Amino acid sequence: MNIEQQIKAVVRDVNDFPKPGIVFKDITPILRDPKLCDAIAEAYVQRLNGIKIDEVAAIESRGFLFGMMIAHKLLVPFVPIRKKGKLPCKTVQQSYNLEYGEAIIEVHEDGIEAGKNVLIHDDLLATGGTVEAAAKLVEKLGANVAAISFLVELDFLKGRDKLLHHSEHIISLAN
Ligand code: 5GP
Repeated sequence: MNIEQQIKAVVRDVNDFPKPGIVFKDITPILRDPKLCDAIAEAYVQRLNGIKIDEVAAIESRGFLFGMMIAHKLLVPFVPIRKKGKLPCKTVQQSYNLEYGEAIIEVHEDGIEAGKNVLIHDDLLATGGTVEAAAKLVEKLGANVAAISFLVELDFLKGRDKLLHHSEHIISLAN
């Protein structure tokens, strides 16, 4: 099985989570398979070949899992992007729209160096609102969104369209 087939074989659809009518893709079974985790991190490294990445910024909390593995493989800094109120030092913030209301994510002001090429990573691309906000944070700090990666892309939601303004390199391992 290739990496996409392996991911699809273990990610499970959970009906009515977190709300009635929503089918949630649960990635936690991947984490029980260390060889698959390593193969996933390697697959990202291969797909990123030729794209200069100086730092990996990942989105709380499931983005941290493979974000850190990719940073470790590339031997570059890892930067946590978190929901408002979790980071202890001075931050820059970005709000984005949810189905009902608004959310805010933030990153330490000194967390990303201006001029650097940043890979943004998250577990899943749905509407693209979350990662678009992360891309704006990276750009507010004067850095460049070199690439964006996901484990799973719900391609029927067309979230990718929002992201192409920020980077031409959008990598998802399964859809
Ligand atoms: P978006 O902003 O693209 O609409 O939603 C993506 C964000 O919501 C990601 O941070 C992702 O972790 C989370 N998310 C939304 N739906 C799912 C899902 O079905 N499975 C998982 N694992 N995460 C989801």
